[in-house]
Amino acid sequence: MSTDTTLTSNVFYLQGLDCPDCSKNLKNDIEQLPQVQKAELIFSLGKLTVHHNTEVKNIVKVVEQHGCQVEQISYTGANYFARQDSEQEKITDTDVSNVVGNIKKFLNQLRQGDLVSAIFSGTLLLLAVLLQLLAFPYILVIIVYLLSILTGGWATFHQGLRSLLKLKFNISVLMIIALIGALSLGEWQEGAMIAFLFSLSNTLENYSMDKTRQSIKNLMSLVPTVATVKKKASAPEDSYNNPLDNLNSRHTAEKNTTCSATEKVLPVEKVSVGDIIIVRPGEGISMDGQVVQGSSWVNEAPITGESALKEKKTGSTVYAGSVNENGYLEISVTKLARDNTISKIIKLVEEALANKPPLQKFIDRFAAYYTPAVLVLALGLITIPTLWGGQEFAPWLYRALVLLLIACPCALIISTPVALVTAMGHGAKEGVLIKGGLYLEQMSEVKTMAFDKTGTLTKGQLQISEVKSFNIEEKIILQAAYSLEKMSEHPLAKSLCRYAAERNISTSPVDSFQVKPGKGVKGRLKQTDNPADTWLVGNIDFLISEGVFVSEHTENLLAEQRANGTTIVGIGLITAQTNKTQKGDLVGYISFRDKIRSEAASALQKIRKLGISTVMLTGDNQQTANKIGQTVGIRQILGQLLPAEKLTTIKELEEKSGRVAMIGDGINDAPALAKASVGIAMGVAGTDAALETADIALLGDDLTKLPFLITLSRKTLRIIKQNVVLALGLKLLTVALISFGWLTLWMAVLADMGTSLLVTLNALRLQHKIS
Ligand code: ADP
Ligand code: MG
Repeated sequence: MSTDTTLTSNVFYLQGLDCPDCSKNLKNDIEQLPQVQKAELIFSLGKLTVHHNTEVKNIVKVVEQHGCQVEQISYTGANYFARQDSEQEKITDTDVSNVVGNIKKFLNQLRQGDLVSAIFSGTLLLLAVLLQLLAFPYILVIIVYLLSILTGGWATFHQGLRSLLKLKFNISVLMIIALIGALSLGEWQEGAMIAFLFSLSNTLENYSMDKTRQSIKNLMSLVPTVATVKKKASAPEDSYNNPLDNLNSRHTAEKNTTCSATEKVLPVEKVSVGDIIIVRPGEGISMDGQVVQGSSWVNEAPITGESALKEKKTGSTVYAGSVNENGYLEISVTKLARDNTISKIIKLVEEALANKPPLQKFIDRFAAYYTPAVLVLALGLITIPTLWGGQEFAPWLYRALVLLLIACPCALIISTPVALVTAMGHGAKEGVLIKGGLYLEQMSEVKTMAFDKTGTLTKGQLQISEVKSFNIEEKIILQAAYSLEKMSEHPLAKSLCRYAAERNISTSPVDSFQVKPGKGVKGRLKQTDNPADTWLVGNIDFLISEGVFVSEHTENLLAEQRANGTTIVGIGLITAQTNKTQKGDLVGYISFRDKIRSEAASALQKIRKLGISTVMLTGDNQQTANKIGQTVGIRQILGQLLPAEKLTTIKELEEKSGRVAMIGDGINDAPALAKASVGIAMGVAGTDAALETADIALLGDDLTKLPFLITLSRKTLRIIKQNVVLALGLKLLTVALISFGWLTLWMAVLADMGTSLLVTLNALRLQHKIS
């Protein structure tokens, strides 16, 4: 342990990490290295983070001793990097240019137990069987069997011995016991079979395990690692120094390879906020930023999962990871590489995977009792029949060995994480960020989906269709409304401000300003003829409750407008009368129209087809809400709800009909999203707060991702359940078969490794397209 403050943090992405149990040992061994302060390992991702002061080489060595390979290395923070297959040799320190190097490499591969060893072991096994059949001298046959055992079992021996020395029991240790047992019983063929099957299934399992991690890894390799910088916001830091450079030459791209002398290609970590970067047609965008020059169509599918190209021009926001299709863009960088939206997404997915859902926690607890129990049982099998039953020793030793072999509950332990990582990876690819296995579990049980109206079912781009004033100049009411709404964040307020600004309306400073959430705003204007008058801007009910008189004639007029889906914001004026009473008048109103999302009706229909009822919750007037509900096909419409009433409504729905998912824009609906079983925020790309508070976030604005999410969550839970049943069932079956003495050692190996492979392959079905 070191308490040095100058620690480096490196992230290693590992390949071949196939057993959660072994990964715990790996973490411990790394923490035991001198100068290593802390190591964290996320099994589902194969991601190892080490805070250390030692050489990277030493860490890589320990990783390889555990039969894993380092695929990528980076700093914490910079979450993405190019694949560097060609760098592999450098990391493993193997020289391929000479014979010694080749042999070393080959032995290294054997030691890591990959495909090569499985192929060699299998071929030798076949050869031995053949020699035996052809009645070659027995000693020769045995030698070939032994060679097969050595090539297939080397990796296991290596790891198993290390664990055994530390008195840790894992699958490798059990394998050694079984091998030694088989050989001591003179079962050469059996031993070779075990070694071969073990190395083969290990290879297959590594491969499929790595494949489950692939979608998330793909996310990371999306973003270009370098940016073409036209202008630095500040002088470049010369102090930049990367200790990984000798291992990893990705930064050599920092040469002046562009046409203009002022352009410089820099690694993204060196780009600062405010720098101007250039993205040419066909290139990937490497930083989050704002377009300052040029225009283009950009493919944001990697971030939002939406395939339609987006038009980008001066002022538009662009995200790292998207691809510039046709135009030339100059972008002012708004975030550091480690803060990019895509980096955030990756970080959140990683956190989600480190966070185990209840089902998985239960299985982990179960496994803790299971392995010792099997060990005791095996001991009983060896001792009881021979010591007290007077039976022969060898067959019972054999049975005990078989039992030990299947003791590792690997398949059970990985059954859940492999499904979750695949599902979350698939979600992320579609722009659906699921923040934990728990939410997938809950999502699969959702009975009702509650939708916010503005910004969720509608686009939230409110257009003013009419400004009406009664007995007062239109300009005056616009001035009043503009002055007050300038202080509000509401989408209606923003639209009104834009409208007024375009018409060069002036504003006055405001006095005694109040925001009434779900109702409107209220305040006095300082620079007017009557600074004592109070202005109200908001819904008609709110105005009436504050003492504004609304005639029946006006009410009818407004009802007509609402019936076609218009949102009405009234403007009220309360004047102090000479006789100390007050008089409240409706001096005008503003009509807003919002566009309903084109995919809303079909997406909602799909959701209902999946057996989920839909509800609309809104603070807007009931009539307006009814019209919009009708258009998108929602029948249960709850309008005129204050923010607090939205919360109680969700609670009531949960009590009445089970789990409720609430879908909103994540900004002004945050409390309701938090209250629901599952809070889904949409269109969150770029809004960090919403990205972080929601349980599930839709990066884009596409409602059709909701039926996708429902199907994905249900399928995931189904696969997890199948996996648990499969792992437990096959295990019970093997135990039963052993007790009858019907199972040989190699069949036990096959059953055990086969099950792990089966659950992983089953989980991989979650990568298939969901329509
Ligand atoms: P939603 O459920 O559509 O998000 P809110 O609860 O935010 O609606 O608001 C409900 C209603 O209250 C709006 O339709 C509008 O009439 C009124 N309102 C709320 N805030 C404001 C504001 N800042 N300016 C004008 N009207 C407002
Ligand atoms: Mg709202």
